Amino acid sequence: MIRAKFAQLSLKNKFFFSILIVILLISGTIALLARWILISGLTQELEMRGTAIAHSVATRGAEFILENDTDHLLNVLFDEKQLHERKHLVAYIYVEGKNGAVLSHTFTTPFPKRLKGVNPVTERVEKSVRIVPFGGHEAYDIAVPIKEGIYQIGTVHVGLSKAHIDSLVGKLRAMFLGFISAVIIITFWVSHRMAKYIADPVMTLTQISDDLSRGNFSSSDLINTEEQLECPAFHDTDLPCWHFDEQREGESKSEMRPHRCKKCAFYNQASDGDEVQQLTTSFRNMVWSIRLYRRRLQESESTYRSLFRSGPDPIFVVDVLSKKLVDANPRTEELYGYTREELVGMPYAAFGEEQAKECFEFFSNDELCSEAMKAPRVVHLRKGNIPMYVNVTACFISYRTRPAIIVATTDVTDLVEKDAQLIQASKMKSLGEMSTGVAHELNQPLNAIRMGSDFLTMVHEQGIDIPQEQYAQVVTEISTQVDRASDIINTLRSFGRKADLLLEDVNLNEPVGSVVSLLSRQFLIEDVHIVTELDPELPYITAQHNKLQQVLLNLVINARDAIVERNEEGAEVRGRILIRTEYDDEGVSVSVEDNGTGIPDHVAEKVFEPFFTTKATGQGMGLGLAISYGIVREYGGELSIQSAVGDGTCFTVRFPRQEVALAAN
Ligand code: ADP
Repeated sequence: MIRAKFAQLSLKNKFFFSILIVILLISGTIALLARWILISGLTQELEMRGTAIAHSVATRGAEFILENDTDHLLNVLFDEKQLHERKHLVAYIYVEGKNGAVLSHTFTTPFPKRLKGVNPVTERVEKSVRIVPFGGHEAYDIAVPIKEGIYQIGTVHVGLSKAHIDSLVGKLRAMFLGFISAVIIITFWVSHRMAKYIADPVMTLTQISDDLSRGNFSSSDLINTEEQLECPAFHDTDLPCWHFDEQREGESKSEMRPHRCKKCAFYNQASDGDEVQQLTTSFRNMVWSIRLYRRRLQESESTYRSLFRSGPDPIFVVDVLSKKLVDANPRTEELYGYTREELVGMPYAAFGEEQAKECFEFFSNDELCSEAMKAPRVVHLRKGNIPMYVNVTACFISYRTRPAIIVATTDVTDLVEKDAQLIQASKMKSLGEMSTGVAHELNQPLNAIRMGSDFLTMVHEQGIDIPQEQYAQVVTEISTQVDRASDIINTLRSFGRKADLLLEDVNLNEPVGSVVSLLSRQFLIEDVHIVTELDPELPYITAQHNKLQQVLLNLVINARDAIVERNEEGAEVRGRILIRTEYDDEGVSVSVEDNGTGIPDHVAEKVFEPFFTTKATGQGMGLGLAISYGIVREYGGELSIQSAVGDGTCFTVRFPRQEVALAAN
């Protein structure tokens, strides 16, 4: 009970009461001991004095008793009683004769009857002490026998005034109590000051830490609010605090520390002064550190929040465990067409299953968690499953103590469409260039059909009878030529078609086949022969058939141009373009090799730049390789050149291979 009450006291009171109780106990004990020793010592001392007076009277008065000279005996008595300060102490002296009669006394009044025989002594005792009453007073009566030889001839009674002794004892006691009280008061005052010295700062620190925990950082008077504006790190959150930050592991002292930071106005080494002062200094440092970092945190939080709220791109947070969206910014609502309520709780896979899977797989690898995942031009689905192209950047974060991914997407559908338009334009240009060749190509089957139909008309008009076999042969030939013409038209149409936005599984041999079928015959006019070496087991790649056709078309037309140019310069080589497809464990490649002019190094550096051309005005736009490079990079591929001037060039396009399926040939 007492313990519990004591525990509830403030530190100041605990300290104060503990010291007080200890001091009181010590003082009480000293007082009791001292009283006992002093008072009994004083009483003994006075008794001894009284006894000495009595002995002196006995010695000096013995002869006057024997001679019965009461006058001289009285003189002796008064001598002894009046000596020095004894007169206050000694109340009376009287001498009794052998028979108990009072021989002489110092009373100025008649001898008090009550004293008679009140304190007798015998020969065998040295002295007798007894408190006796007389005339309204009390006295310590010290009786000593007067001896002559071995005979007792009388008794001396010395009365010590009890009132005087009591007043001496009283004075002594008062002095003593005064001294003890002074000790208690001084101790009380000292302990009070000490308790205050310790408890006051502790109380202030408690109040400040209460304020801090309630988030009230401005009330603390440990740090002057105006002073804090002097601190460079408080002003500029990009600057480190040279005192707190440099204590962090792995961070080295910077040479760039501003001069005024060398003696910081806020941070103090907590080694000066006593423990209470050190605690206050250290607490002040802590408050400053919290205030500094809180401000930085608030600033950075508000910056990122406003970036999140008003950023031009969709940003959303996906919980890794539930694989669902937990937060999304207004731009996400705008672009994806869902309300925030619909977005929160929606599975990330709703935007695109493949991409979501890739993202979670990326971050399931602990080593990659510190890195950002980037996925260019992936297809995300808007509300209503409308596809769009986005560039995705994702980072691993902790959101409300759960692992999460913050995903930012940029809508690049317009860009992709414009790219497609550009590619289409460049394709149309190629087709235009090929029109003469295509016309020539179509002419051949048309001529054959015309010849067949002329022949049949002539047979009909002239009524010539021809054998059935010959008739069937002509009809079959006409039909074959119609098929051939329709093949040419179909290939042209497939070239002319605009590319789809979605990726597909492509066997590289297919676009190679269509390019070869379109161009091979035409090139023969210029004595350029297309040869193919295609691997029938080629694995699929992820791309778009139509765009790959465009890449190959560009490469093959460039190869033809280089051969023609070489011949124009007088080389007279038989043009040869070798198209080869092959694959290994990592990738699938197609190479287009020619025996044309070759590319000098200074030209090779620039061939992928848009609008770079070495061809005459009207013949080349300089876009073919730039567009081809863009398409190849889009599918994660590479486009490389090997060339020797005067010998020929080989362009190789290499794509990463798909893991699973093999091309069904
Ligand atoms: P264009 O064909 O309209 O000039 P390209 O981007 O297709 O534009 O080609 C850029 C340049 O690269 C060409 O002008 C040519 O100088 C060079 N080039 C491309 N392919 C070859 C090749 N196979 N042999 C030699 N030079 C080539």
